[in-house]
Amino acid sequence: MSKDEKSYKAKNAWLEMEDEEREEVFKFNSEYKEFLEKNKTEREVTSRSIQMLKEEGFKNISEVDSLKAGDKIFAVNRGRQLIASVIGKKDLKDGLKIVAAHMDSPRIDLKPNPLYEEGGLAYFGTHYYGGIKKFQWVTIPLALRGVVIKEDGTKVKINIGEKEDDPVFYISDILPHLGKKQREKKMTEGINAQHLNLIVGSIPLKNDEENDEGNKIKDAVLEYLAEEYDIIGEDLVSSDLQIVPADGVKDIGFDRAILGGYGHDDRVCSYTGLKALLDINQPEYTAITLLVDKEEIGSMGTTGMQSRFFENFVAEMTAKYYKKYSDLDLRKILESSKSLSGDVNAAYDANFSEVFDKRNAAFVNKGITLTKYTGAHGKAGSSEASAEFVAEVRSLFNEAGVIWQAAELGKVDEGGGGTIAKFLANYNMDVIDAGPAVLSMHSPFELVGKIDVYHTYLAYLTFLEK
Ligand code: MN
Ligand code: MN
Repeated sequence: MSKDEKSYKAKNAWLEMEDEEREEVFKFNSEYKEFLEKNKTEREVTSRSIQMLKEEGFKNISEVDSLKAGDKIFAVNRGRQLIASVIGKKDLKDGLKIVAAHMDSPRIDLKPNPLYEEGGLAYFGTHYYGGIKKFQWVTIPLALRGVVIKEDGTKVKINIGEKEDDPVFYISDILPHLGKKQREKKMTEGINAQHLNLIVGSIPLKNDEENDEGNKIKDAVLEYLAEEYDIIGEDLVSSDLQIVPADGVKDIGFDRAILGGYGHDDRVCSYTGLKALLDINQPEYTAITLLVDKEEIGSMGTTGMQSRFFENFVAEMTAKYYKKYSDLDLRKILESSKSLSGDVNAAYDANFSEVFDKRNAAFVNKGITLTKYTGAHGKAGSSEASAEFVAEVRSLFNEAGVIWQAAELGKVDEGGGGTIAKFLANYNMDVIDAGPAVLSMHSPFELVGKIDVYHTYLAYLTFLEK
């Protein structure tokens, strides 16, 4: 393939693989598969990642007084934002190399007063999180995961729906026999937010004479929660409980080349970014993998990319590296930094070819996707990478044999999207979006090409190391 024939003419990456490397692709993905299957909330991704970092000798930055080349540190924010770093050979003021990805995925959360009873069933009322197609979340097995914080601060972990003999939860849909009116509705209205109520129980409490008929099942659920978790109804007010698909991660197709599961967006970049940092040899520049929360709802809040946490971490690094703190040093470091915003792009879908520009779409099996700009309707909201920086990244990838493609998200004016790239760009650092293409993005079961996962890892590794 000549270099001017990248993008839609690019070869299928499997054709460029030696057998040995194919094995490496499958091996890497089987580890990713386990990570994805076990970690379905940003808290879970964070705590597993901390474990992996500690196993490789990373220390909490609060435990070290000074920093020098080769030191490995991390910092955690509220259990849902994580920064890990390996100090580089070059001076900190030469800038950082950052891979940043988000750990949150679209899902369904509970309302503050979730529990009620109606029509002989107990339900949890919900509020969806991020851009979901609501009709995809009914009639599938759902798991309940997260934490409840009691008044005295005790943290109660809940994780139901994953073990073999666990029950699951469920949101019902109308039967086709009675679905005439539903069928005539727009897809966005056939299942709306008011329909997303989770079935959580149906056996009424015996000897519950104080209560009316209509609350006995609700009371039974409360009794179960009290017995099993020692929590009361009011404790649910202070909870981060998430409803996520209960299904496991599966290989797709006869050849097992695609991995299907919940949360590839954006745990695929979180995992590959973390693995790259863990596998790095002494990097030239100080390497950082930054994993954030809240991307799916605008990167707000204490744990989102717009939080000061990242900046505070770099300030602490600056102070511990130079043994004195200067705000100007911090600004210079940030300004000289370069970053990959690790996020997924939409994979070309032949079933819905009308929304893609085939010459500028990302394809499964064609490597990591470089997305120079995101946004919608004339690039609005995009930080767009400079031509100079794209050239630099392209050259790095080509030199390291990373298989990559260049794409944008869908046809112009068909829709659009954004990532955390623009918030990194606010520090006046170079940034470009780079991550694998995903089929059925934001669905309860997304697909990603295994070879793209592997080359995303290679791309991040080479970016962080060089
Ligand atoms: Mn994303
Ligand atoms: Mn997303």
